[in-house]
Amino acid sequence: MELHTTQGLLAREDLGLILPHEHVFVDLGPMEEANWRDADPEAVVEVMAPEIERARDAGVTALVEATPEGVGRRVDIDLAVSEATDFPIVVPTGIYQEPSIPEWAREASEDELTEWLVEDLTEGVDDTGVRAAWIKVSTDDDDLTGLSTDEAKILRAAARAGERTGAAIGSHTLHGELVHEQLDVVEEVGYSPERFVWIHAQADDERYHREVAERGAYVEFDWIGGDDQDDGDYVDRVRRLVEAGYTDRVLLSQDRGWYDPSEPDGGEQKPYTHLTETFLLKLREAGVDEATVRRLTRDNPFEAYAR
Ligand SMILES: [Zn+2]
Repeated sequence: MELHTTQGLLAREDLGLILPHEHVFVDLGPMEEANWRDADPEAVVEVMAPEIERARDAGVTALVEATPEGVGRRVDIDLAVSEATDFPIVVPTGIYQEPSIPEWAREASEDELTEWLVEDLTEGVDDTGVRAAWIKVSTDDDDLTGLSTDEAKILRAAARAGERTGAAIGSHTLHGELVHEQLDVVEEVGYSPERFVWIHAQADDERYHREVAERGAYVEFDWIGGDDQDDGDYVDRVRRLVEAGYTDRVLLSQDRGWYDPSEPDGGEQKPYTHLTETFLLKLREAGVDEATVRRLTRDNPFEAYAR
């Protein structure tokens, strides 16, 4: 098993603690302005290289960039930040949720999308030479009635591309019922739920955390250190899954960073250091042993995103 990064393939022994869901660069501004297109890699390096250095000083050895098409994916910028800091970044292919799905992806057939994903995963993204490690998909935050036609098409293409390459699918999904629907869709295509990551699992109930882990998928708690996010609540959630026997299905991250080209000078950055400097101490104080912490923060993210 090896992890595709901006520094090429890395093995488990090359890496320590990995943050499985962060952002170096993401454009949350109006889609029609497409400010991400004109962003200058050097300006991003100036802002984000110090954040990467701080993360490394705090014990982080790699981070997973979670920005897909639709919110300003720029793998060339991730690569520039990686090269400036000599730090590996893991990048995705894939497409964001309604209403951010780009027009070309709506027009593409399921076959065409599958081929595009496989190319990003096996040959590299654009002309960067960097292969995507994984496939990011998403569901609408507000529509609980089910996947849209385009979201379902993208998910089926992701499962087919993932099946061919061994790549993980990670989905931004705020509702547990939709995760079940997504797992049904990927299973139909022959893709294993064990290669599926439920991103933002904290947005729904514990009942779903257990059900989704029971189906074999990863349950990712990834707003740790965010506004209105209490460390104690996360400690409890993690402990309950660990006690129920799902230690190898849990991922921990912060959804922090980042440079936003729609904000002046990239906006305000949130450091990547809360997990290592604060949260893990609380987890240990709550009685979670060192072997478990290691599994949660090193082995699980490696096994989830490596292939
Ligand atoms: Zn995110």
